[in-house]
Amino acid sequence: MNRVKTWLLSVFVLLSIATLVVAQERNEIAFPDIEGYSTLKCDLHTHTVFSDGNVWPTVRVDEAYRVGLDVLALSDHIEYQPHKADVPTNHNRPFEVALGRARELGIILIRGAEITRDTPPGHFNVIFLKDINPLVKDDLVEAIAAGCEQGGFVFWNHHAWKGEELGRWLDIHSTLYEKKLLHGMEVANGDDYYPTAHRWCLEKGLTMVGNSDIHGPDLLQKNTSAEHRTMTLVFVTEKSEQGVLEALRAGRTAVWCGPLMIGKPEWLTALAEASLEIDPPHMRSKTSVWVKVRNKCAMDLVLKRTGQFGPAEVTLKANTTAIFRINVPDASQPIPLEYEITNFLAAPGEGLDVSYTIPAP
Ligand SMILES: [Zn+2]
Ligand SMILES: [Zn+2]
Repeated sequence: MNRVKTWLLSVFVLLSIATLVVAQERNEIAFPDIEGYSTLKCDLHTHTVFSDGNVWPTVRVDEAYRVGLDVLALSDHIEYQPHKADVPTNHNRPFEVALGRARELGIILIRGAEITRDTPPGHFNVIFLKDINPLVKDDLVEAIAAGCEQGGFVFWNHHAWKGEELGRWLDIHSTLYEKKLLHGMEVANGDDYYPTAHRWCLEKGLTMVGNSDIHGPDLLQKNTSAEHRTMTLVFVTEKSEQGVLEALRAGRTAVWCGPLMIGKPEWLTALAEASLEIDPPHMRSKTSVWVKVRNKCAMDLVLKRTGQFGPAEVTLKANTTAIFRINVPDASQPIPLEYEITNFLAAPGEGLDVSYTIPAP
C-alpha cells in the first residue's frame, strides 16, 4: 500500500514539474488603462498558410503572446489561396486550429476573414464571425451582409495601398456605409498611415483600426517605441470577445503605428491623461519649481510648448521619468503648463493639446 502511495506521489510530483510552464517571455506592452476602461492591445488583421501567409495558425498565437498582444484576429483571404494545393480550402480551419492554444495563453482569438476584391473597391475584413462559408459570394455587398447577419464587424482595409487615386471613396462604399455594412477603416496597415482614412473616420463616425496585416513569421522579440507591431488599442469595459466587439462598435480605439498614436480626440486625450503623470514639485525657489514628469506608456511622447511655461520642446522617452525645472515670475502661484503632443494625431497633421496646472504650495 505504502509503495503504491509513494509511486502515485512521485508520478504527481513529476507531472507538476512537467506542466509548470506553458509559455514564458511575454514582453508586456505598457499602455495604461484609461478612466473607466481597460486598454487591450489588438491585432485584427493577420494571415496564415490557409491563405497567403507563411505560418501555421498556432504560431500566430504564440507570436501574439510573445509581443504582448491581448487580442488576435485571424483573417485569411476568402478569394486568394496560393497554397491551395498543399492546404485545402477550409475557411473556418485557421480559427479552429488556433483556438486551443489561444485559450491556454489567455489570448482573445477572433474568427475573421478578408473579402478580397480588386482595388477599387478593395479589401474588407469581417471579424467576429461564427461561420465564414456564407461569405463566399460573388456580390460584394451580399458577402459583407452575410457577415453582418452573424453580428460581424466590418472594416475597409488599407484603402490607399495602390495609391490614393485607386483608394478613393466610391458609390459602393456609400452603399455599404448607408446600409450600415461598414463600421470602420484601417487608418494604418503595417508601417503605412493613411491620413485620408483618418479624416473619413472623423467625418463619418467610423471606428479607427490599425493592424499588422502580417504574412511572414513575426521576427520581433518585443515591441519598442522605435520598432513595434502596428496595433489597435481598444478601450473595453470587459476583457472578453464581447467586450472588444462592444468597444469597436462604440469607436473606443486608438492606433499605434510607427512613432504615431492616431485616434479620435476624446480617446487620445484619455490616453494622454493616463500616460503622463506630473508629481507636485519636490523643490521650489521663489522663481522656479522642480517637478518629476513620468511617461507611463510604451511610446516616446514628443511635446511642444504652446503656453508660457516649461521647456519649449522635449521628448519623453517611453517608460521613463524626467525632471523639469520650470522658471516663472512667481512660484507661489499655480503654474499652467500647456503643450501639444505632436505625435498624438487627433486629425491629419494635428497634434493633441494637453494642459496641466502645477498647484501653488
Ligand atoms: Zn488586403
Ligand atoms: Zn490582409
